[in-house]
Amino acid sequence: MQAQESVNLYTQQLKKLEKVGKILALSNEELEVLSKPERVIQVKIQIKSNNSIKTFLGWRSQHNSALGPYKGGVRFHPNVTQDEVIALSMIMTWKNSLLQLPYGGGKGGIAIDPKLLSKEELELVSRKYIDGLYKYLGEDFDIPAPDVNTDSQIMAWFVDEYVKLTGNINFSSFTGKTEILGGLKIREFSTGLGLVSIAKLASEKFLGNLSGKTVIIQGFGNLGSFAAKFFEENGSKVIGVSDSKGGVFNEKGLRYEELEKAKKATGSVINYSDANKISNEELIEKECDILVPAALENVITKANASKIKAKLIVEGANGPITAEADEILKQRQIIVIPDILANSGGVVGSYVEWANNKSGNLINEEEAKDLILKRMERAFYEIYNKYNSLGNEDFRTASMVVAVERVIKGMKERGLI
Ligand code: GLU
Repeated sequence: MQAQESVNLYTQQLKKLEKVGKILALSNEELEVLSKPERVIQVKIQIKSNNSIKTFLGWRSQHNSALGPYKGGVRFHPNVTQDEVIALSMIMTWKNSLLQLPYGGGKGGIAIDPKLLSKEELELVSRKYIDGLYKYLGEDFDIPAPDVNTDSQIMAWFVDEYVKLTGNINFSSFTGKTEILGGLKIREFSTGLGLVSIAKLASEKFLGNLSGKTVIIQGFGNLGSFAAKFFEENGSKVIGVSDSKGGVFNEKGLRYEELEKAKKATGSVINYSDANKISNEELIEKECDILVPAALENVITKANASKIKAKLIVEGANGPITAEADEILKQRQIIVIPDILANSGGVVGSYVEWANNKSGNLINEEEAKDLILKRMERAFYEIYNKYNSLGNEDFRTASMVVAVERVIKGMKERGLI
């Protein structure tokens, strides 16, 4: 699952924003304001382990706070760069605005391969990241959460380090925590659940009933695996999945439970027994009703967009389709449900957790699930109406128009522009 390094995610995001700027008749100055992050912090992470010193770089980008404190995940991945983190924080600004959450956009990351670290080293790295950043975090300032290769254990270390440094026993400064520290059980699978609920609505509008539809999922991390589970529960047929080691394909369908078993026992879905092996690149071009790119960014580019055979693409990852590929897919009448809607179940889950922690943990799991699904459904229909009223624009553009318009309105009301 190689993200194509030659494509810069930030440049892609700027192109997508420019297009929306034209529709909203934004001035060049306004576009300039939205293009740049309000603050980017770089931290050097130095750890001593086994008599050697290891050094890594990490970042936190705080893109826009017009509508509230910065909110977004932290990823640990060798390909993380400052530009990538800025682009991802911009995506969070649109996502949070689209879902009408009281947040701006932020994102963090460390350029590191966590698979090469011991658990002790991973804890040290996590704590050092917070040491460098804690002055710029807080429940009413910037609230990190999990993202690629980070989880509730890492959030627990973040919280502990933050408490030590600030002296405030405040757990709402981070979301996606373990249950005992105020996390919601549902947060773990809320991104996958939300994605499938949106895929269902989109399928009903554009393809017909979700039940019986064939699905391919690229990426079998937190999002991809739970998405496979919920697609199966909805009667869809998951015919292909992959992870960083490769993929498996069987047009008769793959079984979620067996995929999970293969992943747990051997570290990869490629060891699933009843299927043919397939590369990530081939998998994405296979015929299916619904394709879910749920791995990394820039996997559908102008190089392969004309070969995609799916009828509907639901973006699990952030930024998996480039701006040029968007145009090709639009011409080919392939509908794309964008990241800022499709994977927003994670941050809506985070919002419920944060609000719950701030109010003394008053919400139960059922209420949380209800709120997440309703909030996403409301956003879906808001975009769907905008999509119809714009006439000749794609679904991503319609959703960004809704999101950017709200940010602009907030900035105007506050006198920022
Ligand atoms: N990392 C997730 C995202 O990209 C969740 C962010 C959050 O919960 O703050 O939306």
